[in-house]
Amino acid sequence: MSIKFLDRTEYTALSEAIPAPDVVVVGAGFAGSVVARELAQRSNKTVLVLEKRPHIGGNTYDHLDASGVLVHDYGPHIFHTESQRVFEYLSRFTEWRDYQHQVVANIHGRYIPVPFNLNSIELSFEQYKAQQMVEKLIDTYGEGSKVPIIELRNQADPLLTQLADYVYENVFLGYTKKQWGLTPEEVDPSVTARVPVLVARDNRYFQDTWQGMPLNGYTALFESLLDHENITVCTDLDACQILTFETGNQNAQSGEDEPFTAILFNDRPFEGEVIYTGPLDELCNNRFGLLPYRSLDFIFKTLPVKHVLPCGTVNYTVSEDYTRITEFTWLTGQELDVTTIMEEYPCSFEALAGQTPYYAIINDENHSHYQRYLALFSGLANFHVVGRLAEYRYYNMDHIVKRALELADELC
Ligand code: FAD
Ligand code: UDP
Repeated sequence: MSIKFLDRTEYTALSEAIPAPDVVVVGAGFAGSVVARELAQRSNKTVLVLEKRPHIGGNTYDHLDASGVLVHDYGPHIFHTESQRVFEYLSRFTEWRDYQHQVVANIHGRYIPVPFNLNSIELSFEQYKAQQMVEKLIDTYGEGSKVPIIELRNQADPLLTQLADYVYENVFLGYTKKQWGLTPEEVDPSVTARVPVLVARDNRYFQDTWQGMPLNGYTALFESLLDHENITVCTDLDACQILTFETGNQNAQSGEDEPFTAILFNDRPFEGEVIYTGPLDELCNNRFGLLPYRSLDFIFKTLPVKHVLPCGTVNYTVSEDYTRITEFTWLTGQELDVTTIMEEYPCSFEALAGQTPYYAIINDENHSHYQRYLALFSGLANFHVVGRLAEYRYYNMDHIVKRALELADELC
């Protein structure tokens, strides 16, 4: 079998004639595709997936470039999870390549493992001082612990203060200013805590139990996930064009904050389930203003050598305008005579044509702004938001799959 695809023209021609589906899913990333599959299979519902991009897979979409390298169009994606359910679920749709991601920071021309760990200390300080720092870290936090840089900076001990200052200056400050346009103190503590100081001799970027890359890539995984007789996927179609919302009382005092009372699909009332995985501000014509996001520009380069980097990713923490370079052949394990790398240049999201909102900017003000949008949908029992954009959260792939499975459990 293969996925039932409709393009925009076929959809327009058919939408008048075919019965409305039981479920409409907006977005063919992990959030939308997992819910679509579960409702199609477990509840035997007909599901229409609407995707505005020309392909499935959301931000994990990958394809072979002109040199035969499997590249990730929207940034490097490495799968890692502590959830057995998520790993076993995805294993129904892909085999895995055993891959443990490694990252080094380029600090004034020297490669230092990140997360900054006991090996990094020994590469960065002279032997006696490094040994003292290692002992002090283990005594204070215990071997194997993960210490957020913001927490380490609060230590009064002079040796740990020296270490914290070094890591802050050389690993976090420059990178965070490029990535967010803010200092590490100005971003939510959970953001820098994603990459803590690691009290261990472990050079892997992630310590999760299950890690790897889909053996044939993410797009192939999605082709299998969405391959079900009850699912139709329509690409190149922006759901905002066909999914609209009504408010019951147009003259209400609350005006633009008046919650929606009905969903219209192709201008007709729709009572099936709607799963929305895109940004909420866009769906509401930005009526309360754009939700703040950070975006990225990517530059790909193909070079006639086997490898240019020492490992999957190099972070540029004290120099360059880009934050990091990733070399895809480390991730895929492809043995080729050429290699393709990707540089990431962060920028603010202005909703310009072709720009993608990649990262929600987590703070209280933005959370309230998001909640104002979410409240518009509070009266619609058949409208569900799930996903990194729709929930305005900084979620990894495995979090999203877990949340999508939980929503499906609820709806089945
Ligand atoms: P998305 O993948 O964004 O999918 C949403 C889909 O909805 C998109 O395809 C979009 O086009 C579509 N859509 C939106 N609005 C509409 C509309 N109106 N009509 C139709 N379609 C619409 N996670 C990891 O676990 N490991 C990593 O290494 C990792 N690396 C990352 C690197 C970068 C640069 C970024 C930005 C993220 C990374 N992530 C990583 C996070 C990962 O991308 C997300 O957790 C995951 O892809 C979110 O899935 P989603 O379905 O919620 O969103
Ligand atoms: N970070 C940093 N230096 C690094 C790696 C990460 O300052 O070498 C900070 C930075 O603020 C970044 C955050 O930690 O945005 C989270 O990093 P992660 O690698 O998890 O970001 P992602 O892969 O999600 O872009």
